[in-house]
Amino acid sequence: MAVIGAGLAGCTLARALADAGHDVTVLDKARGPGGRLSTRRVEPQGWTFDHGAVALGARAPAWRQALAGWAAQGAVAAWSPRLAPDSVQPLDGAALWVGLPGMAGLCRHLLHGQTDARPLELLARHQVLALERDADGRWWLPVQRDEAAPLDGEARAAALPQAPRCGPYDTVVLSLPPAQAASLLDPWRADWAHEARSTVLRPAWSLMAVVDDGPDAPDWALAWPADGPLAVLARDDVKPGRAMHPGQQRWVIQATADWSAQHLADRPEAVADALVAAAGRWLGPRRWLHTSAHRWAYATSVRAMVSPERRARWDAALGLGLCGEALGGGGAEGAWASAQAAAAVSGAAGS
Ligand SMILES: Cc1cc2nc3c(=O)[nH]c(=O)nc-3n(C[C@H](O)[C@H](O)[C@H](O)COP(=O)(O)OP(=O)(O)OC[C@H]3O[C@@H](n4cnc5c(N)ncnc54)[C@H](O)[C@@H]3O)c2cc1C
Repeated sequence: MAVIGAGLAGCTLARALADAGHDVTVLDKARGPGGRLSTRRVEPQGWTFDHGAVALGARAPAWRQALAGWAAQGAVAAWSPRLAPDSVQPLDGAALWVGLPGMAGLCRHLLHGQTDARPLELLARHQVLALERDADGRWWLPVQRDEAAPLDGEARAAALPQAPRCGPYDTVVLSLPPAQAASLLDPWRADWAHEARSTVLRPAWSLMAVVDDGPDAPDWALAWPADGPLAVLARDDVKPGRAMHPGQQRWVIQATADWSAQHLADRPEAVADALVAAAGRWLGPRRWLHTSAHRWAYATSVRAMVSPERRARWDAALGLGLCGEALGGGGAEGAWASAQAAAAVSGAAGS
């Protein structure tokens, strides 16, 4: 079986399928697993930033239980940050969790972290360009391996004839943001592709910053501003398992979806300047030792309640499935819930 996408949904699904006895290969265009649970490392200083989701909230009992299980395995830890005095508290005191040693650590753990678990294969730097099916109904996946230059549109079509093929696979499950799944689905399930194209994912600009840790520096680690342009300010170096650098504080500062949409086409340097200016009200006058901005074109879908049977798509005749956070109701919890649903339907198929 092949799972395309090594974000939280793909890794959860792959682990469930492997544990059920299937031979599983996971393909991802990035250099490692994580997707939007992402950790960026800046060298030579060794600074790390969780520049996707900064932490995971957990209210639903099943999701809390999953996180507690991963905590027992050392893959995540509870984080109880001190809140900024004028922050709102959207979680009503519910626990926050972070991956170890960074957010992407949870996905790495699901794939390879348990020594007694059935091994599975990760093909990183493998962008899947299309889904092809041979006369025997087996899937072949043309791929390109240049992680720095993913192909889209005409360039993708032009690369197809020469692209190496991975496979064959009896079953393929796509675990991708809807916009990226749609073009792969077009020839096989136009209805799923249409649904994917109608799904709105909101963008997010994320600022990675290092500031001085002077006597007037913030003594809190998390703020959810009541209004924009900032959505969250999270201090990265005080999360469990992160390295601290003396005299410095490491922050991830994210803009709201509305502000990010308005500034989607701006240069990263201009966005960094704007977010530094907005952060001044929270962090005070600081020396900014490092700033860099990352644009997430597809950050989060609108949260929704989804009944369990609608959290994944499965076509038994084709051996083709679809999952991911947008189908599962949004956020990391949605990604996990969608993967559970996909495992239940696709896991019953052959390997
Ligand atoms: C800035 C930001 C803030 C967030 N804040 C929160 C939060 O506070 N709380 C919360 O719960 N969630 C938050 N999220 C959302 C959360 O991170 C996601 O919901 C979750 O991680 C999505 O997991 P996924 O597996 O569905 O998708 P992804 O993580 O997007 O995984 C998809 C994977 O597919 C790969 N891929 C794409 N196309 C191809 C291809 N053609 N071939 C091969 N591989 C491909 C990608 O490289 C990626 O690794 C945030 C996300 C961002 C970006």
